[in-house]
Amino acid sequence: MRELKTIDVAERRRLRGLLFDLDDTLLEHGKLTKEAFETLCWLRDAGVSLIGVTGRPVAWARVLTPMWPVDALVAENGALSVIREGGRPVVDDRLDGPTRAARRSRLLEIIDRLRARCPGLERSDDCDGRVSDYTFDIGEFRSAGKDLVAQALAAAAALGARTTVSSVHLHVTLDHDDKSTGTLRLLAKRFGVDPGRARFEFAYVGDSSNDAPCFGAFRTSVGVSNLRGRFSLPPRFVTEGARSTGFVETAHCLFGDRY
Ligand SMILES: [Mg+2]
Repeated sequence: MRELKTIDVAERRRLRGLLFDLDDTLLEHGKLTKEAFETLCWLRDAGVSLIGVTGRPVAWARVLTPMWPVDALVAENGALSVIREGGRPVVDDRLDGPTRAARRSRLLEIIDRLRARCPGLERSDDCDGRVSDYTFDIGEFRSAGKDLVAQALAAAAALGARTTVSSVHLHVTLDHDDKSTGTLRLLAKRFGVDPGRARFEFAYVGDSSNDAPCFGAFRTSVGVSNLRGRFSLPPRFVTEGARSTGFVETAHCLFGDRY
């Protein structure tokens, strides 16, 4: 990984948008700092497309998309996204209502069996706002041991579910999207940007294992310095600052000359 400040001028001039993770990237221990919010505001004023890409529930994205200076939020690790149409938040789900409801029922049956096998798991506080996945708190308000997490990942896989891990949650789902496929689909469907162009025109910044698909998908990939996890492909660049300080640094390194 290279220091972000060494990025070539030609690479950053090609960029038209910034894709960013929320927890432990934009947010500082769950909070939106004044500096991070001001950074979103000037990026927006400079004409930079802004899309948050999070594992948080779609219910959160419905609230935050109209409130924040962003074009859209991708939620639940890529399964759903929320855009603004005429000022209203509109949810984009790949599945129709009945198919989604049937899949949710199947997922909740699997979760019952998973909890029976791993009784130490605790449901995350934001679970009610979810449509496509179910989450356990492994680092937000509780700390789950590595052995319990490993046991849960194996048990979920044996029950036929997919799993993703972030700095705060263990996600269990029957959906197939990840942060990169969900984001690329949104960019193509709602913003008319094909995946080949998106790879070079949008930078991605994140901190955790669930960001790995985007580190692979987007050419200008950045990890904030608190980066943790296992990556098939690590980000190409790393910031000096951690969490929201690293996010602000990313914005200045990539788009500072458009301020
Ligand atoms: Mg994160």
